[in-house]
Parts: sequence; structure tokens; C-alpha cells
Amino acid sequence: MSQARLMDGTALARRMVEETAKRAADLTDRTGQAPCLATVLVGEDPASVTYVRMKRNRCRKAGIESRHVELPATTTEELVGALRELSNDPTVHGILLQHPMGAHIDERAAFEAIAPEKDVDGVTFASFATMSFGLPGFVSCTPGGIMRLLDEYDVDPAGKRAVVVGRSAILGKPAGMLLLARDATVTYCHSRTADLSAAVREADIVVAAVGRPRLIRGQDIKPGAVVVDAGYNEGNVGDVDFDSAVERASLITPVPGGVGPMTIATLLEQTVSAAARQSH
Ligand code: NAP
Repeated sequence: MSQARLMDGTALARRMVEETAKRAADLTDRTGQAPCLATVLVGEDPASVTYVRMKRNRCRKAGIESRHVELPATTTEELVGALRELSNDPTVHGILLQHPMGAHIDERAAFEAIAPEKDVDGVTFASFATMSFGLPGFVSCTPGGIMRLLDEYDVDPAGKRAVVVGRSAILGKPAGMLLLARDATVTYCHSRTADLSAAVREADIVVAAVGRPRLIRGQDIKPGAVVVDAGYNEGNVGDVDFDSAVERASLITPVPGGVGPMTIATLLEQTVSAAARQSH
């Protein structure tokens, strides 16, 4: 069998950001106010600091303003208060609460303080519900980016067996719900799954969202399957053993350059959509 085609997330994300920048400029011309994303950083975790800086830089390049709120030492109560204030501020259109936030914060209470119409990172219960029902609303950004990649490469999930490895609230679980909303037959695998290889072998579409380097091996990929690797581990390594999987799959995302760039592109796109809806 020939090698899989690569699903190029870098190129698609670039086109999405260009399109988003045009929409942001039009909206700014029309309303006199640029779309604005509030970024909220709790604590001083170096990775989180870098992620937030990256997101703010991308916003600036796309003509989206960002308002940064830093809470180096905070309580759930104070954080909830800050998020409610941003939710009520008409000059803020989207809110990104960088996570993880540390064990001392009640993460769910914080997420639920974000107004659903500003939940451009898709973290609230309301967003999860609309996404699961396939209704308009904001999706969790990485799963949303995965669906865009599948669409771009004409992968129709309807009737396909999709196996999602990982069930986190921001990635695995919503990815499975989006695939289900598009009529795939979805199986979730996780750390207690008895025979992961057997489940993966059945899959027409594999979504790897684990955080374990090269966990999914080529020998378990059904010939011709579509392989989406959302994992990102030290040394630019995904959750799929790329070298063996590329020999069996029909389409595969590289790491880096596959799912990764789609996450920020989706965040920017949803921020401009939020601003457009709020301007009406
Ligand atoms: P997470 O919250 O740690 O969740 C990991 C999931 O994998 C859990 O559901 C866990 O099962 C499952 N798991 C762990 N070991 C397993 C094993 N041996 N077999 C099967 N399942 C196993 O991680 P996450 O936040 O979802 O992130 C997953 C990966 O995606 C990471 O590499 C992360 O860096 C990457 N990521 C990428 C982006 C992006 O923009 N590209 C965004 C977010 C995350 P249990 O539920 O049973 O514990």
C-alpha cells in the first residue's frame, strides 16, 4: 500500500486566519469597534504564559484586540468575579480562560462564569450541549479544528466507525460528540480500556488525544483509515507512531503541522463570529 496523504493543518489554518482577518476588518469598519478577546491567565505556569502570549500575538495579526487579565495568585471566588465582569463588559466579545489552573481552583465554577455567547473556547456546559446536539454555538477549539481538517480532505464521518482515544473534557469527549453529530459510530477509549489495539483496528477514523508518545502503532491501523493525531509530546512527537502509521493510513496528520495550528485558527474564527453576533 502507498503512503498516506498528509493533512496539512498549517496551510488550512493560514487560510482560515486570512479569512478571519478579512471578517475582523469588515466588522471593525462597520461597527467602529474591533473584535476583542479577553485572555485570563491564572498562576505563572511557563507553558501557559507562552500559550497565552502566542494567542495574543495571533489575535493582533488578525486585527483582533486582546485584553489580558493576569491573576498570579487568586481564589476561585476572585476568578469567578473577574470572569463575570468580562462577561458583562460590552467591549469584550470572547473570553479565553487558559487552563490548567492548578488544583486550588474549581475549574468548572470558573468556566461556568463565562457567558455562553462569549465562550469562544467552548468550555462551558452550554457550549458542550449545543455542540453535542449539532446546534449553532461555539465548539471546543481543538475538536472543532479536527472536524475542519476532515472536511477539508473530504472525509465524511457519516456511517464510519470512529475511535477516539482519550476522553478529556476539552478534547477527546467533544471530538467524539462532534463525530457523533456527523453520524459516525463512535467508540471512546481511555486508560481503563481493556484492549486498545482491538478497538483501534476497527476504526475507519482514529482520533488520538492521549498525551502518550507513539501509543498508537501502525500495526493497529486498519489499511486505508484516516488518522488524526491531536497529541503533542516532548520532542515534537504525537500520540501516533507516525512512521509505521503512514504506511497503513490513507490520510494522516503530521505532528507538528496537523491539528496544532487548527486550534488557534478556530479560536480566532469563533472570536470574530462572537463579535459579529454581539454587534447585531
Ligand atoms: P488529558 O486531559 O491528560 O487526557 C488524556 C486522556 O487519555 C484521558 O482520557 C486518559 O484516560 C487517556 N489515556 C491516558 N493513558 C491512556 C492509555 N494508555 N490508553 C488509552 N487512553 C489513555 O489530555 P488532553 O488535554 O486531552 O490532551 C491529550 C493530548 O493532546 C496531549 O498530548 C496534549 O498535549 C494534546 N493537545 C493538543 C492540543 C492542540 O492544540 N493540538 C490541544 C489540547 C491538547 P482517563 O480519562 O481514563 O484518564
